[in-house]
Amino acid sequence: VPAAPRETIERPSASAIERAKKKLTDRLGEHRVLVDPEVLEPYSRDYSHGGRFMPDIVVRADSADDVQAVFEIAREGRVWVTPRGLGSGKSGGALPIHGGIVLSMERMSRIKEIDAADMLTVVEPGVITQDMMNAVEKEGLFYPPDPNSLTMCSIGGNVACNAGGPRALKYGVTRAYVLGVEVVLPTGQKMRLGRRTIKGVTGYDVAGIIVGSEGTLGVITEITCRLVPRPIAVETALVSFASLDAASVALTKVLGAGIVPRTLELLDHQALDAVRKKTPGRFPEGAGALIILETDGASKERAFEELERAASVCLEHGALDVLVAQDEVQRQRIWEPRRVLSVTLTESAPKKMSEDIVVPRSKIPEMLRRTQRIADRHRVRVATYGHAGDGNLHVNVLYDASSEDRAERAVAEVMEATVALGGTISGEHGIGLCKREFIALEQPAPLIALQKQLKAVFDPEGILNPGKIFPSRGVRE
Ligand SMILES: Cc1cc2nc3c(=O)[nH]c(=O)nc-3n(C[C@H](O)[C@H](O)[C@H](O)COP(=O)(O)OP(=O)(O)OC[C@H]3O[C@@H](n4cnc5c(N)ncnc54)[C@H](O)[C@@H]3O)c2cc1C
Repeated sequence: VPAAPRETIERPSASAIERAKKKLTDRLGEHRVLVDPEVLEPYSRDYSHGGRFMPDIVVRADSADDVQAVFEIAREGRVWVTPRGLGSGKSGGALPIHGGIVLSMERMSRIKEIDAADMLTVVEPGVITQDMMNAVEKEGLFYPPDPNSLTMCSIGGNVACNAGGPRALKYGVTRAYVLGVEVVLPTGQKMRLGRRTIKGVTGYDVAGIIVGSEGTLGVITEITCRLVPRPIAVETALVSFASLDAASVALTKVLGAGIVPRTLELLDHQALDAVRKKTPGRFPEGAGALIILETDGASKERAFEELERAASVCLEHGALDVLVAQDEVQRQRIWEPRRVLSVTLTESAPKKMSEDIVVPRSKIPEMLRRTQRIADRHRVRVATYGHAGDGNLHVNVLYDASSEDRAERAVAEVMEATVALGGTISGEHGIGLCKREFIALEQPAPLIALQKQLKAVFDPEGILNPGKIFPSRGVRE
């Protein structure tokens, strides 16, 4: 079958950009419309390996009305619009790859309501995730999804990517907490989707389609999130193993014993070496892999009892050592290197490609073995860590300019191995730009075509975030 033709999307013409700049400035004021290349530069990149793409204009929206105005002007001039939260994305979803307008939601950062009786919060999309968590915790409530980027990402970005995090093992991902959203569609229509109630099945789950749509169907301007009671006690332990194989077997045994900790985070020896360099002395010598084990509950006794049971299973299955945090300071000392691990690895090699595959839990040991064989075959370094309790592994290929081709082949083979083991190519970062050429490994052509039709319903003129999720060459059936 001959390859499908590559899609052609041109940058908007210079005259279309000039007209859009003038209209946007007239309508929204100069302070919301940025055009100075120096000021635009940070909006040309995110935390992915997708590259740098300069936008022509950045609009910092203050309201859903501003978003509507942007779409109206963008449609008139056929200027692309790329929504952006705080730019911590790891799949290039917020990169304006064909120029045009970056629509930044960073200023829409109000927490509008925290309703303790109905256990929900209503927020604007630009709220920093950690700020929202802190605000609801003050009211005795809890928002569980905790991407490790929680100080540098927005709740709108989390909803757009259906973000996960360490605690997803026990509590589920962002989707489980989104009751409703307000969106502005590229047609300019503003809509409320979903509800304020815990249950509700009226009509199709259109709010559910927006969750995880990676800024390709509409711009989220408000979110209603379900909350749960704040756990009273949390217990954290660092469990060390001689090898990654031993650690990955132990974590499946913990879950097999019917224990559901709130986190089971895995670090392999490459990841461990990187954090050791930053924080010498913090991790046990001789360890070839680590698990961060955390439990929570309605009392200290219950949380501790669960931690003890899980730790015993680990010790029965080869753990070398279990260090239990005695207080909050020690807890943070265990977590802090994990939270910054992605950035630490970026600093540890000239280049990094970071994947977030998921395999069925029982296949984790086999996936790790296959990954190592792929790395050896292509002579690249691979550091693996992640939310292994739910099968989500961050496979980081570390390389330099001279090994770019080999690194790309290694990534492609990791994706193939993932799908062959019954897994999925993205657990939480999304497909965006970086993984779009791999989606056809996992999904058949008719399913990709169906999703493109859905995109066309939301965005008939194709002006929102073009060039994302779907393969650049299209897919032949
Ligand atoms: C150190 C580090 C650790 C990380 N750990 C995790 C983790 O544990 N779990 C996890 O899931 N992710 C993790 N990430 C990835 C990233 O933080 C998440 O994908 C996050 O949800 C992105 O939020 P953001 O506000 O930065 O969005 P951006 O990067 O700005 O945008 C991401 C995508 O969302 C779209 N978007 C943003 N806001 C809106 C909106 N209001 N309406 C419509 N579309 C929108 C954009 O178009 C883009 O496609 C990590 C990243 C880093 C750098």
